[in-house]
Amino acid sequence: MRMTIGAFARAARLSAKALRLYDELGLLRPATVDERSGYRYYDGSQLERARLIAWLRRLGMPLARITRICELPAGASGAEIAAYWREVTAETESRGRLAAFLVDYLSGRGHVMSGTPMGVRYAARADAGPVRTTNEDAAYAGGRLWAVADGARDGDGDRASAAAVEAMRTLETREIAAGDLLNVLTEAVADADRAVGSTAGGVTTLTALLWTGPELGLVHIGDTRAYLLRDGELHQITHDHTQVQSLLDEGRLTPEEAESHPDRAMLTRALTGDGAAADVSVLTAVAGDRYLLCSDGLSTAVSVAELGTTLRHAASPDAAVAELISLAHAAGAPDNIACVVADIVPV
Ligand code: MN
Repeated sequence: MRMTIGAFARAARLSAKALRLYDELGLLRPATVDERSGYRYYDGSQLERARLIAWLRRLGMPLARITRICELPAGASGAEIAAYWREVTAETESRGRLAAFLVDYLSGRGHVMSGTPMGVRYAARADAGPVRTTNEDAAYAGGRLWAVADGARDGDGDRASAAAVEAMRTLETREIAAGDLLNVLTEAVADADRAVGSTAGGVTTLTALLWTGPELGLVHIGDTRAYLLRDGELHQITHDHTQVQSLLDEGRLTPEEAESHPDRAMLTRALTGDGAAADVSVLTAVAGDRYLLCSDGLSTAVSVAELGTTLRHAASPDAAVAELISLAHAAGAPDNIACVVADIVPV
């Protein structure tokens, strides 16, 4: 059934203008275009596609993705839409956390935080592991800064991880004005990225916490991780920047499949010297908190349950680090192991 653009637009509940746009974008071509008049004619069989496009537009889906979905068979396109929606939800959640922080921060601005005065104790170690002869991991813990970095094996990985941590260490002594923490962290990551850029093509991850009491700044890029043990519960507070994590987020992989995925170590973000897209956030510490920063050499060799048990029972950060590294050795860790444990203690 040949329809004029006006009739087709009415039937599809779209404007003629939208149809012309879809034509230009190649999303939906008219069935025929009159050579002389330039009039567009559609076929009744194109209605379903036109309506699908309109619905996906209402969902806020980018055009390129709509094009892809229109090419898929019905079942696969359903799965693709579900995957898109999970991505949107994950993104909204992470924006929600930032919004909550900003609301908190702006409404508390100028107030002096009261409560228990808190101090810290900490331990750090970077270990080559039982298999590898070189070590590209770096670990650091000081009075204010705790950091781990995992340099890529090819190239200048050991220098890249060391340079990133070294750049962050300037934060140990830097004066930070109240409310300036996010900016300071963002600048520090940019410095760390530049330092990595000055190595011979080195690439590294970086996960760091900066203690300004009771606020803790968190910087994260790559697959090194930060965990928080609070009230006996272990929470992972960083999100891996890996291909596998993206597939998990989109619901294309189950956690069990992810564990044995061959491309588990493939990063989607890292410090390369090209400008870093690190996650930067601020947490409020509570006396009794225990933080763990580690490289994938620990988190892939030792289960979350074992990490939790060890962190719950170790008497001190030193003891926790020693025990975690020996657990990784016992599991035959094929990779380097970087590990920092820091406690927030009442003083
Ligand atoms: Mn590693």
